[in-house]
Amino acid sequence: MSKSAIIEILKRVYDPEIGENIVDLDMVKEVKVDEKNGFVKIKIALTVPECPLTQKIKKDVSSSLESLGIKKVEIEFTSMSQEERQALLEKLRSLRARREPTQAESGKRAYQGSPVALLPKGGIHNIIAVVSGKGGVGKSTISALIAVELKRRGFRVGVMDADVTGPSIPKLFGLTQRLEVNKDGNKLLPATTKSGIKVVSMNLILNEQTEAAIWRGPIVSGVIRQFFTDVEWGELDYLVVDLPPGTSDAPLTVFQSIPLDGVIVVTSPQELARVIVAKAVNMAKKLNAPLLGLVENMAYTKCTECGSTIFIFGKPKGEEAAKEYAVPYLGELPLDPLLVELCDSGRIEEYQATELSRVVDRIGEVRVELYQLKAPKVR
Ligand code: ADP
Repeated sequence: MSKSAIIEILKRVYDPEIGENIVDLDMVKEVKVDEKNGFVKIKIALTVPECPLTQKIKKDVSSSLESLGIKKVEIEFTSMSQEERQALLEKLRSLRARREPTQAESGKRAYQGSPVALLPKGGIHNIIAVVSGKGGVGKSTISALIAVELKRRGFRVGVMDADVTGPSIPKLFGLTQRLEVNKDGNKLLPATTKSGIKVVSMNLILNEQTEAAIWRGPIVSGVIRQFFTDVEWGELDYLVVDLPPGTSDAPLTVFQSIPLDGVIVVTSPQELARVIVAKAVNMAKKLNAPLLGLVENMAYTKCTECGSTIFIFGKPKGEEAAKEYAVPYLGELPLDPLLVELCDSGRIEEYQATELSRVVDRIGEVRVELYQLKAPKVR
């Protein structure tokens, strides 16, 4: 009953979601052998606390040890630290790079399951789309704040402003420089914000911002597709895509061709009719990507004099709506005059959206960063 034999046998236990064995994933933190009493103690660090697949891992560990004749096993579960998770991501990234299907293969595979061929992701590991049922609820603001928070956590982040007919992302980051093309003259280079977030937006291409507003669906679709295929994004951990509100059919087809890893729905209490929330949720479902949850923006504000909570647009309905549509509720963001000021002066990166940091935590919990890093299933 040597320790190395135990570790060897544990290589047969796979993390069901990631598809790699728990030893290679550095999840096995300790193996203690009590030879005298035939007893083994194992400590396993989960990628996220209370991983729903704990029971499966436990069963697999026990039965693999049983094959070595070890019956008395104690398994302790802990969770990985932020650093350990980061190291795991790096490891998975290199594994994934080695196994990345070719462009032709990924197209073929997508055609089998969906009517739209998925575009290859290149060096982008996770694509998160942000949608809303109508304009003005703060979808762009939330997209930008999610990007800022991800950047603060050390990820390589990009924002694609796909709201082509009402692009507002560059203004939030104070970007005005026109985009340039690469040396070969065949790809656009994204702009870079102060903290290093890459941004592509129609506002950084057109001289007249009003031009895009009158475009018809097919042109809009073409532009969005090009934002994905003809931009030199490089390696990104996250690409946050700010979608047009209440997406119509033409761009929707394009979004179905972008391999999204998750969709976040933004609502606000002004969206009086639930119908609008329903529309956003249904659209998100049509995107064939995991619906990560719903965020309610401008849910309340704080009185600057006494600090009391004021529900300007009536009682927040996000949580209720989320329940009604069986979507996870990711929290709420207050209406904050400081945020308006920072957005208007292009300094959104200075805003500390603590509530949204909770949202990004939750994104981590539902394993967004791991979705695309899952090893291809070997059958
Ligand atoms: P959308 O992308 O849904 O059209 P925007 O993100 O452009 O909406 O936001 C609309 C307006 O509301 C902007 O002027 C923005 O600064 C403001 N805004 C958005 N969220 C908040 C908030 N939580 N507090 C204060 N103002 C906000």
